[in-house]
Amino acid sequence: MQKGKINVQSENIFPIIKKFLYSDHEIFLRELVSNAVDATQKMKTLSSVGEFKGELGDLSVEIRLDKTAKTLSISDKGIGMTAEEVDKFINQIAFSSAEEWVEKYKNQSETNAIIGHFGLGFYSSFMVASQVEIFSKSYKKNQKGVHWTCDGSPEYVLEEKPKGTRGTEVVLHIAEDSEEFLEESRILGLLKKYCKFLPVPIVFGTEKETTKEKDEKGEEKDVTIEKPRVINNTKPAWTQKPSDLNPEDYNGFYRELYPMTFEEPLFNIHLNVDYPFALTGILYFPRVKQNFEVQRDKIQLYCNQVFVTDSVEGIVPDFLTLLHGVIDSPDIPLNVSRSFLQSDSNVKKISGHITKKVADKLEELFKQNREDFEAKWDDIKIFIEYGMISDDKFKERAKSFCLLKNTEGKYFTFAEYKDHVTTNQTDKDKKVVHLYTTNKEEQHAFIESAKEKGYDVLLLDTPIDSHFINMLETELEGCSFVRVDSSVADKLINKEDEMPSKLSQEEKDKLKPEIEKQLESLNFSVVFENLSESEQPMVITQPEFMRRMKDMSALGGGMNFMGNMPDSYTLVVNSNHALIGKLVNESDAQAKETQIKQLVDLAMLAKNMLKGEKLTRFIKRSVDLI
Ligand code: ADP
Repeated sequence: MQKGKINVQSENIFPIIKKFLYSDHEIFLRELVSNAVDATQKMKTLSSVGEFKGELGDLSVEIRLDKTAKTLSISDKGIGMTAEEVDKFINQIAFSSAEEWVEKYKNQSETNAIIGHFGLGFYSSFMVASQVEIFSKSYKKNQKGVHWTCDGSPEYVLEEKPKGTRGTEVVLHIAEDSEEFLEESRILGLLKKYCKFLPVPIVFGTEKETTKEKDEKGEEKDVTIEKPRVINNTKPAWTQKPSDLNPEDYNGFYRELYPMTFEEPLFNIHLNVDYPFALTGILYFPRVKQNFEVQRDKIQLYCNQVFVTDSVEGIVPDFLTLLHGVIDSPDIPLNVSRSFLQSDSNVKKISGHITKKVADKLEELFKQNREDFEAKWDDIKIFIEYGMISDDKFKERAKSFCLLKNTEGKYFTFAEYKDHVTTNQTDKDKKVVHLYTTNKEEQHAFIESAKEKGYDVLLLDTPIDSHFINMLETELEGCSFVRVDSSVADKLINKEDEMPSKLSQEEKDKLKPEIEKQLESLNFSVVFENLSESEQPMVITQPEFMRRMKDMSALGGGMNFMGNMPDSYTLVVNSNHALIGKLVNESDAQAKETQIKQLVDLAMLAKNMLKGEKLTRFIKRSVDLI
C-alpha cells in the first residue's frame, strides 16, 4: 500500500474547484464518461492493430446509482491502468492540470463563460463527491487490480486490490450538498444531454421492452422483457459518409436532435473537413418565415461526439446561428472564454469554411433546380439577406443566386431583374429605378398606380429588408430603390422635364394655406406637382430616405435616434387635376372648405391613415354630401 500526498502548490484546490463552478457541477459526469469512452476506444484501437489479441467482449460503459450507499459509479472495459499509471495519470498529470486550470480561471468572473469548462477532467468529480475511488485493471498481461482513493484532501491511498474484469470503475461518494446527483431522473437527463451521440454504448439502468412472440399454439402474445437501457446512438448521421445516407436518414436525424419540432427541415449541408482543421457536422435549413428571433441557439457543438454547448455564437457566423444541426470539431479550443474564441485563428477558419459550404450548397440548389429553389425562397430569404448584409464573403457568393420577388410572385436574379425593368424604369439620370412595397395591402393604391404606368413592383416586406435595400443600392451599380408610396406614380421615376402647369403660381400660393389649414396637427408639407390629369388630385407620400432610415433604426443597427423622430409626409397636390382647377375657382368659401377636407381625407384613406374621429367625421361628411 502506498500512501501519498499529492504535490500541491496552492494548499488545496478542491474547495476552489467546488466553489467557483457552482452553476456547472453537472459537467463532472461528462468528463468521467468521456474518460471511460476514451479508454474503450483505445482498447478497440489496440485490438485492431493486433497489440491486444484476446476477446474485446461487451464494451459498453455502465453508469450505476446506489441510493443506499450514496454512490454513483462509472465503469468501463477499456484499457485500464496499472498502479504506476494511476500514480502518473491521476496523482501527477491529472492533478497538476487541475491545478493549472484553477490558477487560470480563479480570477475570471462567472459571466465570462468558458465554453463547457472542458479540460478540468477527472478532478471535476470532487465538485460533487466527498470521496472518490478508482478500481482499475490494465489490459496488459499479468496485472493485478489497483485501488486508489482520495477524500478531497491532498492525501490519497493507492493499493493493490484484486479486480475481476479489465477496465476502470470510478466510484463517487456523493457529497451531502450534491444529493441531486443520486436522483435517477437527474442522471438520466444529464446522460441524454451530454452522451446522446457518444461512440460507445452508454448503459444506465434497465428499461422494459414489449415484443410479440408466438406461443406453442402459434398464437401471438405480448412478451415484456427487462433489458439494459442504452442512452446513446453510437453512429449519429454526421459521423457517417454522405453517400451512405438518404434523405430519410437526414430527416430522421433531425427528429432525433429536435424531438419537439414537427416541421421537416428544408434541406441540409453535410460538413466534412479534415485539413487544415477537423470538422464534421450537419446543418439544416429550417422553415423560418418572419419570426426569426426565437429560432436561435439550435446548433449543438460537439467535441468528438461529446456534447459541449448549444450556444455557438462566435464559432459560426452570426447569420448562420439561425440554422439547426450539429458541428463536431476537436479543433475548437473549448476551455477558453468566448472573447478569446472569436480571435482564435482556427475558429476563424472554421467559420469561413462553414460560410463557404453554405454558399456552395445554395448555389448548387439554385443551379440544379431553379423551380424548387424558388419554392423554398420565402423560407430561406431571411438567411441569405441577413448573410449578405453581415458577411462580405457571403455577399459576393450570394449575388448570383439571391432572388428578388415581385408583387406578382415572379422571381428574378439581380441581373435578370435589371434587364426586366431597364427599358421602362430608367430615369433621366440613367438610373434604373427599382420600385418596391413593404406591405401589399397598405400600399395597394400606390402599387396599382405604378402598375398602370407599366412599372414592376418588388415585394420587400421582411423586417431586415430596409437594411438589405441599403446594401443593394451600394452593390448594384446604376440602380436605386424607391418605395411605391414615396412619391406619386408620375414622379416615382423622373423621366423627362416638367409637364406644364394648369395653375399659375399666384393660384398655387393662394390655395396652399387653405389646404394647410386642414392639416394643422400633422407633420405635413404641401407641395404642388404638375402631374397628368389621370393622377389623383391629392396623394400623401413619404420621402424614401427618411422613411428607410427610420425603418432601419427600428430593427437596430446604428442611427437609433431616428426611431424617435416623427414620421414626415408630403401632401402632393396635382395642379393639373380637374377638381383642383375647380377648387381654385370656387367662390363659396364653405363649399371650398368642404371639398378640401374631402380630398385630404381621401388621400389619407388611400394611405391607411384615416382613423378614429377623423374617419367618423369623413363618413358623416360624405353622407351629407350625397
Ligand atoms: P484528460 O482526460 O483530459 O487527459 P483527466 O484528468 O480526465 O484528463 O484524466 C487523466 C488521465 O487519466 C487520462 O489521460 C487517462 O490516461 C487516465 N484515465 C482517466 N480515466 C480513465 C479511465 N476510465 N480508464 C483509463 N484511463 C483513465
